[in-house]
Amino acid sequence: MLSGAVIGGIAFVFGLAIGSFLNVCILRIPAGKSIVLPASACTKCGTPIKPWDNIPVLSYLILRGKCRKCGTKISPMYPAVEFLTGVLFLLCYLAFGVSLITLKWSIFSALIVVLVFTDIRERILPDLVNFTGFALGLVLSLFTPPSDGMALWLAGRVFAFPPPRPVLSLIDALLGAAFGGGVLWVISEGYFRLRGREGMGLGDVKMMLMAGAFLGLRRTILTILGGSLLGTVIGLAIIIIKRKGTDYELPFGAFLGAASLLVVFFGSPVVEWYASLLRFR
Ligand SMILES: [Zn+2]
Repeated sequence: MLSGAVIGGIAFVFGLAIGSFLNVCILRIPAGKSIVLPASACTKCGTPIKPWDNIPVLSYLILRGKCRKCGTKISPMYPAVEFLTGVLFLLCYLAFGVSLITLKWSIFSALIVVLVFTDIRERILPDLVNFTGFALGLVLSLFTPPSDGMALWLAGRVFAFPPPRPVLSLIDALLGAAFGGGVLWVISEGYFRLRGREGMGLGDVKMMLMAGAFLGLRRTILTILGGSLLGTVIGLAIIIIKRKGTDYELPFGAFLGAASLLVVFFGSPVVEWYASLLRFR
């Protein structure tokens, strides 16, 4: 048997490697380029990056953040994304053990990392990521336990016998997706009608459709609340510190993404407290 520390180490290193691939996705998907070919090259001099210079995090440190050929600075985003993905995969293992649930949340973490960084860099939440993620969320729901409990509660009111677990789990996913996408669509549409300009893009709507399929209803509600709070606090701080105007466009998707990950790893006590309130009424 492998010890927990060894499996945790494997999860972290695997996350580093996936993070390296996510960097490629962050750079190329918004530009409509292939994420498979060609191999990575220096953005300045075009020299292909040798495999030994492409080791996650380590290569950046060894090369001191510069291209080996021309000395151009390499963005610290690359090692940051790799390290972050490693930490998230490790957290998934620590929280959910060796299970399909860990696979589900690792995939979700990877999708969110891509969306957070494309949103920060270019204010783009690519359809490819949102819709692929939405489909994955629905499929994974069939193989993992119901994420929410809302479907079970609803089924209890309608059926004498609860439906099989995959059906409940899929209903939870659909409820989360419908609520997440629906609420943001209403806000986006309402803002547009009131102000006559777009305040929130459809990207955020599609992102929450995707996230809702993974999160289920309660965690989707918590994510939207958390994302709005983060956006308000950090957004105001950015506007004040960097002296941007109030028309400065915040990367709302990035705040929603950060909130969704906080909810996945630390939101269970809140969700249980909320469920207990309902139960005692
Ligand atoms: Zn170069």
